[in-house]
Amino acid sequence: MDDCIFCKIIGGEIPSKKIYEDDEMYAFHDISPQAPVHFLVIPKKHIPNVMEASPEDSALLGRLFHKAQALLAEQGCAEKGGRFVVNCKSDGMQTVPHIHIHVLGGRMLGWPPG
Ligand code: AMP
Ligand code: ZN
Repeated sequence: MDDCIFCKIIGGEIPSKKIYEDDEMYAFHDISPQAPVHFLVIPKKHIPNVMEASPEDSALLGRLFHKAQALLAEQGCAEKGGRFVVNCKSDGMQTVPHIHIHVLGGRMLGWPPG
């Protein structure tokens, strides 16, 4: 999608610190990390948010989560885990309308969210 910053990151028009890429997904460090480990896993397909994902996207979204857990383990968080967050639309405070999994780790995270 033309004016989507995450599509531009996938296309290389906007630089990013890449962690992983294959034919259907891309993972990169968040520009404003909220924990010692904070990266994003996104599909290359432009899906705006969880509520606009279709049943055909189910397997893809499952693979994103599986890759997210593998990458979190690679970042040294296998034992203590972390958090997998998908913000959705305005009440979820989603700021980039291209679906993404936030993956956070490396410190104890607070709950509930504010
Ligand atoms: P959300 O608020 O859930 O939509 O999350 C969007 C995330 O994208 C935020 O954590 C931002 O810090 C992050 N972000 C925005 N622009 C960039 C960028 N150019 N490179 C890396 N992360 C970004
Ligand atoms: Zn996009």
